[in-house]
Amino acid sequence: MKSTTSNNHPKFERTLVIIKPDGIQRSLIGEIIGRYERVGMKLAAMKMMVPTAELIEKHYTLDPEWRVKTGVKTIKGYTDKGMTPPETDPLKVTEKILRNLVNYMTKGPAIVMVWQGAHAISIVRKLTGGTEPLTSDVGTIRGDFVIDSYALTDQDGRAIRNLVHASGSVKEAEDEIAHWFKPQEVIDYRLVQEGILYDVNLDGILE
Ligand code: GDP
Ligand code: MG
Repeated sequence: MKSTTSNNHPKFERTLVIIKPDGIQRSLIGEIIGRYERVGMKLAAMKMMVPTAELIEKHYTLDPEWRVKTGVKTIKGYTDKGMTPPETDPLKVTEKILRNLVNYMTKGPAIVMVWQGAHAISIVRKLTGGTEPLTSDVGTIRGDFVIDSYALTDQDGRAIRNLVHASGSVKEAEDEIAHWFKPQEVIDYRLVQEGILYDVNLDGILE
């Protein structure tokens, strides 16, 4: 059988997912995990905790560019809609977003997980859906289970409640996994179904 076990095979890709406090309060733990599980992803690590402000602030600022990128993106969001942004300085915009995020993410238990599988980062993002539930695709977690919007959160001065976080790139996934887990907490194991997902010749089916 042709081997698919070399360490750089795409099936070893990992991504970090957090079921945010609203996901838990909405009783969606099983539904969310089920969506990643049924596509063929493998759960490699999981813990439940009430995140501290320090952990959340660090999580969102692991990328030193995140503050500027998020500020610029948010300001563009306002101007694209013909609206005036509340601030012109991207860093001030992000400071407010970060404060609201810390407030939201530390308010109750969250579940932090590592999911593994081919194209884990893109597949998990596809199933998760776009950031703003108002425009997330139907069929995604954020599109199917929550109704929030930036219009609502801006009016009420809070973070968008979109149920889950999922890493957006290989670099982000690596940094976030290292931020939330010790290496020994992420388990290397084989799932029986990986035969049907990845074996080259499907040699193990017929007796
Ligand atoms: P994600 O990867 O889909 O979770 O989105 P990002 O990484 O771009 O943003 C992280 C978090 O920052 C989001 O979950 C929002 O809470 C917040 N955020 C991002 N962009 C915006 C925005 O344009 N406006 C507001 N109010 N918050 C935003
Ligand atoms: Mg992100």
